[in-house]
Amino acid sequence: MIEPRSHFPVMPRTTSARSGRLAILTSGGDSPGMNAAIRAATLLAIARGWEVFGVRRGYRGLLEGEISPLGPSDVGGIIREGGTILGSARCPEFNRPEVRAAARERLAEKRIGAVLVIGGNGSLAGAEALSRPAENGAGGPRVVGVPASIDNDIGLTGLAIGVDTAMNTIVEACDKISDTAAALDRTFLVEVMGRDCGYLAMVSAVAAAADAVLFPEAGRTEAAIVDSVEAAIRRVRARKKRRNRVIVIKAEGVPISVERLKSLIDARFRDSDGAGMIETRVTVLGHVVRGGRPSAFDRLLASRLANVGVRALMAGETRKMAAWMLPVHPSPVVATRSADDPYCWLVDLEAALEETAHLLDRTSPLVQWRARVLDEIEGVLTL
Ligand code: ADP
Repeated sequence: MIEPRSHFPVMPRTTSARSGRLAILTSGGDSPGMNAAIRAATLLAIARGWEVFGVRRGYRGLLEGEISPLGPSDVGGIIREGGTILGSARCPEFNRPEVRAAARERLAEKRIGAVLVIGGNGSLAGAEALSRPAENGAGGPRVVGVPASIDNDIGLTGLAIGVDTAMNTIVEACDKISDTAAALDRTFLVEVMGRDCGYLAMVSAVAAAADAVLFPEAGRTEAAIVDSVEAAIRRVRARKKRRNRVIVIKAEGVPISVERLKSLIDARFRDSDGAGMIETRVTVLGHVVRGGRPSAFDRLLASRLANVGVRALMAGETRKMAAWMLPVHPSPVVATRSADDPYCWLVDLEAALEETAHLLDRTSPLVQWRARVLDEIEGVLTL
């Protein structure tokens, strides 16, 4: 008889402390699904006999002692809401050790030993600093991060909370724009969020069947960008199809403003013969991409990452980040598969921040792979 075998290594489950006090904090740019993470973390910890506190307005609120109890009734129904019920704020002075010492005092006053930080790159850097052993001594808080950023610019996680909702918002907008663009044979330049990381533009372009995509990682000159858009428009116009609509998705970090791109493209076609009138229109989606009800997937992702993060804190872990389906083969020193969810990992927070820096300075092999793939399909998009 063949024994059923698990394909997943079964990690030993760690026992968790019977009781304790957990603070939940959201910080930096908000992203849809943060509330789902707050809800899951609160309900799980309370079910396990822990007391839960919500910190208002990120590290700013932590410094000012805005820490109050969170119960099941506070998180009822919030899974459907975008943004964060805890609020967020910037707090640049949190990079000063004496400021962090004051924050630790606020936590100690409430006898809070564990902190779940839900946020992006900067917020996770704050989490690392808050839990830094050299500053912490023996009695400082344990801190675990949960990645939340629509840009998907956080290292050592396949996805961050909010990416899926943002992508769906962009695709829905492009579908609508496509209807009018097709009716009038127009070219639309659609700008989406993404200053340093073009991930949202890339995946949305594929999912929305755009004709061209511009992302900062390509590192193209202004002239090369204009050439590529012009070439995409000409390819669309040259094919024998009923409709000549063109959708170009541009990440905001591409170093040419969308208005300048429009005027340069319009000039190319005005000056050329035989190409026919091209009417270029611009749509900047801006903060629309950041808001709205979280998708079902973001609710699930946020709940699962919060589950892994809270269980890690309850088991005594610190300086870790809950992560989703790693896009790399990590060393066991850097990441271990969660014992509680085979799709989730617990990664070293410092290693995640290091990889985040590589994603942003474009030295990560993952960025190079993304740029190469998009480069290779450039001609395919307009077929
Ligand atoms: P996000 O988390 O969306 O990347 P920010 O970069 O604005 O947003 O960071 C949010 C907050 O995290 C900052 O206002 C600051 O309080 C804290 N933070 C960011 N970087 C650091 C750092 N290097 N050290 C300590 N705290 C930091």
